[in-house]
Amino acid sequence: MSDTILVINAGSSSIKFHLFEVGPGDTLTARLGGQVEGIGSSHPRLRARDAAGQTMIERDIAPSHAADVPNAQEVVGMWLSGHLSGVPMAVGHRVVHGGPDLSEPVLIDDAVLAKLESYTSLAPLHQPNNLAPIRVIRERRPGIAQVACFDTAFHRSHDALADHYALPERFYQEGVRRYGFHGLSYEYLVQRLTQTLPEVVPGRIVAAHLGNGVSACAIRAGKSVDSTMGFTALEGLPMGTRPGRLDPGIVLWMMNQGMTHDEIEHLLYHDCGLKGLSGIGNDVRELLASDDPRARLALDYFAWRVAEGIAGLGCAMGGIDTLVFTAGIGENAAAVRAAICARLAWLGIALDDARNAQHGPRISTADSRIGVYVVRTNEELIIAQHTLDRVRGR
Ligand code: AMP
Repeated sequence: MSDTILVINAGSSSIKFHLFEVGPGDTLTARLGGQVEGIGSSHPRLRARDAAGQTMIERDIAPSHAADVPNAQEVVGMWLSGHLSGVPMAVGHRVVHGGPDLSEPVLIDDAVLAKLESYTSLAPLHQPNNLAPIRVIRERRPGIAQVACFDTAFHRSHDALADHYALPERFYQEGVRRYGFHGLSYEYLVQRLTQTLPEVVPGRIVAAHLGNGVSACAIRAGKSVDSTMGFTALEGLPMGTRPGRLDPGIVLWMMNQGMTHDEIEHLLYHDCGLKGLSGIGNDVRELLASDDPRARLALDYFAWRVAEGIAGLGCAMGGIDTLVFTAGIGENAAAVRAAICARLAWLGIALDDARNAQHGPRISTADSRIGVYVVRTNEELIIAQHTLDRVRGR
């Protein structure tokens, strides 16, 4: 019977789970992945596929069994126990916020859990959902080691300048800092580039994580030096349903119009970005297929502001040697990559259209001043690796 590591990524309406087998030499092999989606809705569903992509289960679950994240975690636990021989040796969790201090994954004990709970005010929509499965597993299976891996940790290498807003210092002391997110994705990219393109890693890389959440990161010598995301996952580039850069005066205006905190929060997290601009939706496939001028407007806005963000990160490093696209849009939407790179032609980026259409890995021409690549991210694998490392005491 081989050891396994379970990886959990719990959001407000879904719990994603991935199981890795620990092989000789601590190699990790993905065995299955799935999710409970529609938590809290009238149509929650459980889906899982094996490593070959074959469906293992796909069915509705009773809304009362997935009313909230702890409920849904029980569904995941029950289904997994029927498909596992033995319990996992450890569970790794994606936790959005490691606060100002936690720059590495940590084994969870009471003190760590209390500390992570204290960061809830920094990420009120995400942190409670991330921590809920940790509590359920601690209660039901206290013997299983659990490890928290943070989206903020990779960015703790930022210097004070990158970490600050132009606010009075007391806000910084109270935790209002530019934390940055998507760190697990960027960490994986650095690891992958070290294996496949080691010559680019010592240089100046901008990595663009273009998924439903969108950010870009300036990486010099393998370390994050700046990110377009800051205090929350709202700042920076336009996203599927979040606006990115916004004049804070707009929020004040909304308050003056009588919108409540919760209404503004819902708007900013769920109804803006590509969805808000297009009035159609947040899925880039749908927008690319549409001939509605609003879909065009949304995609053009996206390309412009992402290009602007990428160029801006060059200021953190005195230039850009390598640009890497990743995540759902970055890996799959050749037209969006082309539109972004067209706006960066003045930096010396020249795209190879045929390579771009094939999604890389290299999508720039041989004489492009900046090498442009597509690299598939794998946040689950990096969480599994960290979890195994912590359990092994590494
Ligand atoms: P992620 O958050 O990384 O899962 O990315 C999700 C987003 O990627 C979706 O909302 C789509 O907008 C986009 N996406 C996924 N697949 C494709 C595709 N084949 N072409 C264009 N966009 C895609």
